[in-house]
Amino acid sequence: MKRIVSGMRPTGKLHLGHLLGAIANWVELQKHYECFYFIADWHALSTAFKASDKINANVRELMLDYLSGGLDPEKCTFYLQSHIPEIAELHLILSMITPVSWAERCPSYKDQIQELGQDIATYGFLGYPVLMSADFLAFKADLVPVGQDQLPHIELCREILRRFHFLYNREIFHEPQGLLTQYPAVPGLDGRKMSKSYDNAIYLSDAPEIIEKKVKSFITDPAKIYKNDPGHPEICNVFYFQKVYNVDQTSEIEKSCKAGTLGCVPCKKELTRVLSQALAPLQEKRKALADHPEYLDEILHAGALKARPIALQVLQEAKQAIGMNL
Ligand code: SF4
Repeated sequence: MKRIVSGMRPTGKLHLGHLLGAIANWVELQKHYECFYFIADWHALSTAFKASDKINANVRELMLDYLSGGLDPEKCTFYLQSHIPEIAELHLILSMITPVSWAERCPSYKDQIQELGQDIATYGFLGYPVLMSADFLAFKADLVPVGQDQLPHIELCREILRRFHFLYNREIFHEPQGLLTQYPAVPGLDGRKMSKSYDNAIYLSDAPEIIEKKVKSFITDPAKIYKNDPGHPEICNVFYFQKVYNVDQTSEIEKSCKAGTLGCVPCKKELTRVLSQALAPLQEKRKALADHPEYLDEILHAGALKARPIALQVLQEAKQAIGMNL
């Protein structure tokens, strides 16, 4: 069975972009692959080092989102990145052979600094794609589910491992491939990519009245001002979500929007209804699990017990190849 490795940073509440772009995809993958899903607390520290007191709470929140989103601890291995110190040691080794220019050319480096400010431009943040490489290489990942914007990280990982193999003349690492998600860029309320930092997100924990308020503010087709104006659903963000959450009605909505027989107000009302309905079971499960934090911790500890020996073996092989195995 091929192995999938992926993770998320515990930096706060998850939104629909995370659910559609990652978790829903992971839920499907758990049926067909050996899945290792981790919580990237070191990565969180790279941008949230000033709010490190929130990381522990966010780890539990993320575990709640993983499980209530449909991930099954019987099928997947969950672990906290910092519970596997072998990843950090491998990262250190890889960072010694990675030219600075390779890390600098990752597009997300400049994008994130632009978005979050010069404060995050640390040595650790520059090296986060190298840490990501260690995340995948330590577990011999075959496939890494990613959005289009993360493909350069997989490419960098492959370049680093090839350089390692070339320098130390040993084939240690397994080349991971990117697996593109079905929903690579989920639009937010303002049409930009849904993101906490753009304040344009619908969160998985949003109550129906909050969802209603947010859906009302969705940017739709600017040419459709009155109900009778023919619309262009293909450029409408509300229609994007109708296609996901209102599959049976999609073609009728599309037809009526184009014909000018459906207005944006009832269309948004319908989206609020189906969206609230879709999130309700997830919110209920989340609430029930939240009463058992010890259960979440147990899952993470059991996952680390299973994952650590794999990473240790890879690390030992890498050190042997370098000649550091006294
Ligand atoms: S009717 Fe619906 S699909 Fe058409 S533009 Fe308005 S919100 Fe979008």
